[in-house]
Amino acid sequence: ETLAELDEALIDCRACPRLVEWREETARTKRRAYADWDYWGRPVPGFGPPDASVAIVGLAPAAHGGNRTGRMFTGDRAGDFLYSALYDLGLANRRTATHRGDGLELRGVRITSPVHCAPPANRPTPGERDTCRPWLARELRLLRPTVRSAVVLGAFGWQAVMPALEAAGWSVPRPRPVFGHGARSTLRAADGGAPLTLFGCYHVSQQNTFTGRLTPAMLREVLSAAAEVAGL
Ligand code: SF4
Repeated sequence: ETLAELDEALIDCRACPRLVEWREETARTKRRAYADWDYWGRPVPGFGPPDASVAIVGLAPAAHGGNRTGRMFTGDRAGDFLYSALYDLGLANRRTATHRGDGLELRGVRITSPVHCAPPANRPTPGERDTCRPWLARELRLLRPTVRSAVVLGAFGWQAVMPALEAAGWSVPRPRPVFGHGARSTLRAADGGAPLTLFGCYHVSQQNTFTGRLTPAMLREVLSAAAEVAGL
């Protein structure tokens, strides 16, 4: 299986009834500002090269962001905050992400999420997180030959990614590392392969960025540490 094949299969997934209904209803009703848009309304696959050495793990697509455009963090302020930081570090060729044909390219970074469909109120249930986990585990397994660090945005992603990392072949220490902004933990590969360094970072949601809980400098600092570990 290749990452492209995985992405292709993912976009047909209908395993979570509540999320299927929500993503499709949002695509039908739209936000007025996007009335002309043909919303994506499906699972949003990971974005970035298949030989990425840094993984960024978010939460879930936004109803009028990724669920509208079909690409991770594309079409909303959270995405512009993230891509702007990646641009500053030379890991993206543009500061903003507006639609799938905008020419945005990432260097050595793959962005994904533990839940691939937009949830009501941006809150997936634990059951939905568990149902979507095999997709994340498969993606991480495919990235294993090259990925050396992962930046996890927010506590939900942090908890969701641990079992997926175990399924993909890394050993998670017990007790499990605790989430916090600036948290850092190195996971051994179960088969003696390359380790993975995990970094915790507050989520780039407007709730955090508007209030100054997460500043551009704080995000750049974590991303740049993750890029350094990965040799980018
Ligand atoms: Fe499938 Fe994941 Fe979407 Fe659930 S959230 S329907 S498992 S892609």
